[in-house]
Amino acid sequence: MTPRWVLHVDLDQFQAAVEVRRRPELAGLPIIVGGNGDPNEPRNVVTCASYPARKFGVHAGMPLRTAARKCPDATFLPLDTAAYDEASEGVMSVLRDFGHPVEVWGWDEAYVGAEVDSPIALAEQIREVIAGATELSCSVGISDNKQRAKVATGFGKPAGIYQLTDENWMAVMGDREVDALWGVGPKTAKKLAGMGITTVADLATGLGAGLRSIEYVVAAPDHGSERPRRAPSLTASSIATCAVISVSGRGMTTRGSTSRSRPRNSQPPSTY
Ligand SMILES: [Mg+2]
Repeated sequence: MTPRWVLHVDLDQFQAAVEVRRRPELAGLPIIVGGNGDPNEPRNVVTCASYPARKFGVHAGMPLRTAARKCPDATFLPLDTAAYDEASEGVMSVLRDFGHPVEVWGWDEAYVGAEVDSPIALAEQIREVIAGATELSCSVGISDNKQRAKVATGFGKPAGIYQLTDENWMAVMGDREVDALWGVGPKTAKKLAGMGITTVADLATGLGAGLRSIEYVVAAPDHGSERPRRAPSLTASSIATCAVISVSGRGMTTRGSTSRSRPRNSQPPSTY
């Protein structure tokens, strides 16, 4: 049987890259896209910082004024949603032309499901074809489910490919803090820390060792129309690899990544 893979395709510095595409003189320079492009504007935040701007400590979500203090020589540009819509549609249509199911997750992210022997070869092809057709660079994370594919992309960035599988998951992720898992934020990390769980390996061990009251639903490998399913007898490592965890005041539940992590305003996907 041909192996099934999930590829997470994520455009690099998307809004900044779209701006560079129409103003090539900005290539390689610190660019900060956000609000009306006025760094003195109160309340507005950075939507996207180019990699050169990130070297100054600027990141998405930071107030524009703070960004301007950190990187005064950056070019500040206003958000141009129409341009990003168009660029995104261009990329997604190239991606769909590969013939595999595509699930779009916003302007600059999509999952591709593929039954192929070499997902790395497919990822290389995707990067090449997107760059050729749109002049935009992307990174690709490869795994057998969405959670892990998205985490993998982080290791591929920028402009790279990374594969996370059962073979390398614990070696790569075990010593990392729990918030390295997609869906585990500072609040959850803090509550887990209170339970003595700080690393991904701790979580796998802890869940396996006796946190019996935890209810969990783990996403089935995201293929076709399979829905997230309740999985009564999972190994600790599969819980830590697949689950998206939320800790409430009264107890802890874990839920599949497909139910919790989809952006609230996105359409439920019919395919991935
Ligand atoms: Mg991106």
